[in-house]
Amino acid sequence: METCGFVELMHSFELLTRITGDPVWADRCEDIAVNSLPAAFDPAQRGTHYITSANSVRLDDAAKTHGQFDNDFAMQAYRPGVHDYRCCPHNYGMGWPYYAEELWLATYDAGLCASMYAASEVTAKVGTDGTAVTVTEETGYPFEETVTLRISTPRPVEFPLYLRVPGWCAEPALRVNGTPAPLRAAPPCYVAVTRTWRHGDRVELRLPMRATTRTWAKNHGAVSVEYGPLTFSLAIEEEWRRYAGTTAWPEYEVTAGSPWNYGLDGRSLRLLRRSARGNPFTRRGTPLEIRARARRIPNWRADDENVIRPLQDGPVRSGEPAETVTLIPMGAARLRLTAFPVIGHGPDAREWRLVPIATASHTWQGDTTEALCDGIEPSGSGDQSIPRFTWWDHRGGVEWVQYDYPEPVTASAASVYWFDDTGQGQCRVPVSWRLLYRDGDTWLPVENPSAYGTARDTYNRTTFTPVRATAFRLEAHLGDGVSGGILEWRMEQG
Ligand SMILES: [Zn+2]
Repeated sequence: METCGFVELMHSFELLTRITGDPVWADRCEDIAVNSLPAAFDPAQRGTHYITSANSVRLDDAAKTHGQFDNDFAMQAYRPGVHDYRCCPHNYGMGWPYYAEELWLATYDAGLCASMYAASEVTAKVGTDGTAVTVTEETGYPFEETVTLRISTPRPVEFPLYLRVPGWCAEPALRVNGTPAPLRAAPPCYVAVTRTWRHGDRVELRLPMRATTRTWAKNHGAVSVEYGPLTFSLAIEEEWRRYAGTTAWPEYEVTAGSPWNYGLDGRSLRLLRRSARGNPFTRRGTPLEIRARARRIPNWRADDENVIRPLQDGPVRSGEPAETVTLIPMGAARLRLTAFPVIGHGPDAREWRLVPIATASHTWQGDTTEALCDGIEPSGSGDQSIPRFTWWDHRGGVEWVQYDYPEPVTASAASVYWFDDTGQGQCRVPVSWRLLYRDGDTWLPVENPSAYGTARDTYNRTTFTPVRATAFRLEAHLGDGVSGGILEWRMEQG
């Protein structure tokens, strides 16, 4: 997500809170404010990057080309003074100030609402006669679960005090001047305490937090780890290198100094609270850590441009030993794994496919070889809604696409789903094709291929005598005057 977007979403959610009074907007604003927004800054908050990701294992000063975004400059290094980033640096500075302004809201019934929580102080006119009261809020939220409010007022005044109970909090507890107050809450909600407030009155709201996992069904069944409003990420060793900028405004790349390719094994999470000082959105300053059980997934690797590859369907089989890993708040992790695959042990556990590096004899600038093996299923050969690969604007003749594997794989079958935009463009299924493997410096055809189909709207599968190689090439003979393309090309490994 572009860093601008965090600030813009927070601002939109703050306005929606005011307009609708629906606490879900404050929940969503807080979620971004305590997770994604701090994750977008360097620890000193001097610089930001353009794109911030839930899973991000390298922030380098290199442009990426595999269709991540339509920009030709590096988007993940911290580059405070660079014009390329334009919108983000002048937007992100507004995130925290707006948030501070929206912590407290006036209500329609002459009361006051603690909409979002942070150490703060507010002075406001309340009650039927508009008495100016000051409420002082003391809290370490979101790193602590108690919020204490102290009322200063020149005279007793009746007004409703609204407190937001976030949706993740099942069992909030309230005390007024030390006495438990009954609480009927169906979070997310606001609870109102209406009484005649006196100088020195104290309200204590407890929002008990638990370490839990949340499943992301639409992201291959991945899980994230949460504690109250905080989302946690794998703590990856960060190697910082200043490559440009000035001492006041340094530009940094960050690379990983420890493995990151873990899946979570089981749901046992242990929260540790440690004494820490300084900015809690830093590795050194965070007071919270979670220990979790995990196993590595050796086939999960970065692509040839050092970008972490997308998740695959879980649960995932792993033959690696179980380890205890440390998680820290996402906003304190500049490199991070936040969407975790789930390790499986049963018959439903799947192998993680080793994804090859895909290249081609030619690729149209708007398309990408990454589409060949992105696992996104086409709805038909003319599917315009998914990433694709085409040889456009090469027409006729022989063209190829190639998979290179980091280590030899044994393959015995391949399936190809052709792109064909008859009626719209000039790509057609090829006249013919064949599959080759690399043997030393030469390319040899696979032996005994069962078929080389060119059907539209389906996978064309061929089986052949198993062969072990580090590279495979699909060679296509294009029709006269037309080009061609592929939506998905699968090699069956093992
Ligand atoms: Zn921007």
